[in-house]
Amino acid sequence: MPYLIVGNWKMYFTYAQAVAWARQHQEDLQSLVRETEHKLVLCPSYEAISDIYKIIKTTGVAIGGQDCAPHDRGAYTGQVSATSLKQIGCSYCIIGHSETRLYQHVDNKMVAHAAEQALKNGLTPIVCVGEHKDQYEAKETFHVIAEQLAPVLLMYKNYEGERLCIAYEPVWAIGTGKVPHNTYLHDVYEFIKSLFTEVGLQRTPLLLYGGSVDPQTIEQLCKVPQIEGFLIGRASTDFKTLKKIVKLV
Ligand code: PEP
Repeated sequence: MPYLIVGNWKMYFTYAQAVAWARQHQEDLQSLVRETEHKLVLCPSYEAISDIYKIIKTTGVAIGGQDCAPHDRGAYTGQVSATSLKQIGCSYCIIGHSETRLYQHVDNKMVAHAAEQALKNGLTPIVCVGEHKDQYEAKETFHVIAEQLAPVLLMYKNYEGERLCIAYEPVWAIGTGKVPHNTYLHDVYEFIKSLFTEVGLQRTPLLLYGGSVDPQTIEQLCKVPQIEGFLIGRASTDFKTLKKIVKLV
């Protein structure tokens, strides 16, 4: 089955390092895309998007933003609009990543507004949801996800024909080397799907998993039938590791 494989480069690279990475691996990426049925997306920091897009646009690898503003345009210092991301080559946008929720104090409504901006501008939003460790231990996962998705579900009713991805990223799994058990993942994805069908949405989103995806964990994760793609942080910054993952899925 073809998976959607998204690399979230966070702020691991400087502008110069990110562009050098793209130049160095342009041909490798092209060959990798030719050899695989999977769809690859890279999400560099804003400042590198335009140049990286120019380098890799012929490889078949798509580009995404790591966030976008919940507004159209206006007096929002420091923010980047979905319109601009589209103009500089993006076709995807990560929204509501746990690090954005934590450090930029983005709440569930802002996530829905940003996802709407992405949809309006022809970007596929990758909306991240997931519980913190204490919430996991208190068995609050379903409750947390339902709250995170409530405004997104309301908004998505007006865009049902458009593509939407939901990435389940348990915060306690990000960068820790830990991944949830498959039975647990199975239940979480069924729950996410039920949230969409319960509000009358016919089309369920594409379901991604993120959190310590690497060549060691990927084979186990591929056994979860609901997972249709992966959001990969650290491991996506090393081409050899990324290639290994793509070959294993
Ligand atoms: C992420 O933060 O989106 C992520 C999945 O990180 P990592 O793969 O490094 O755990």
